[in-house]
Amino acid sequence: MAELTLRLAAVRKRIVSAAEASGRTGQLPTLIVVTKFHPVEDIRRLSLLGVRDVGENRDQEAAGKSAELEGLGLRWHFVGQLQSKKAKSVVRYAHSVHSVDRLQLADGLAKAMAAEQDRTGRGPLDCFIQVSLDDDASAHRGGAAPDEIPALAERLAAAEGLVLAGVMAVAPLGAVPGEAFEKLASISARLVQDHPSATAISAGMSQDLEAAIQFGATHLRIGSDILGSRPAVG
Ligand SMILES: *Cc1c(COP(=O)(O)O)cnc(C)c1O
Repeated sequence: MAELTLRLAAVRKRIVSAAEASGRTGQLPTLIVVTKFHPVEDIRRLSLLGVRDVGENRDQEAAGKSAELEGLGLRWHFVGQLQSKKAKSVVRYAHSVHSVDRLQLADGLAKAMAAEQDRTGRGPLDCFIQVSLDDDASAHRGGAAPDEIPALAERLAAAEGLVLAGVMAVAPLGAVPGEAFEKLASISARLVQDHPSATAISAGMSQDLEAAIQFGATHLRIGSDILGSRPAVG
């Protein structure tokens, strides 16, 4: 607990410093602590430390953890690659999906949300379009190509039960993060011209949160610098 407290405080301090350094005023970006592979006990501790937003990248793991921790009032963000057939499960617990990268998935989420809202009356699902910032297809880390964004945005914006929140990206391996996030900022600006409320930018991980904040990130997804390196998958 003591170690987690220190690590979380250090990351929060980095966020404040980076916001100040880039002259950002107003609301700080939302810190999403990515808890994949870490046990629910750690998430309970994070909750005690004031964390409200957590991220997971596998449906099975996220479904189990969110059910177990239902009483904590956490918001669950799905940040991993997602098969359309998992949409029905994800909408049971997710506040948002950061990895919408194709029409088929947008349609799957729309359909699943319609059924889920009928069933439970839950609020809408925030959807981020994951954008590939990679020119090199072999280094691909998921995401839609920039020219696929307008059609995806239309589809998400038109779906009842879905809210087009904005864009998400992972800096390509070996790229200079600042350059990648600057590109993402311009992609975001283009999206906002057509969809004025889709202003969210989900960018920044442990290694590159400062660069992401410099280029306007509204949501940070931080794992290892708070929870330590991920336990080996057995
Ligand atoms: C694991 C993960 C993160 C967190 O990465 P760290 O380097 O551990 O901070 C962020 N975003 C996505 C999509 C992830 O899968």
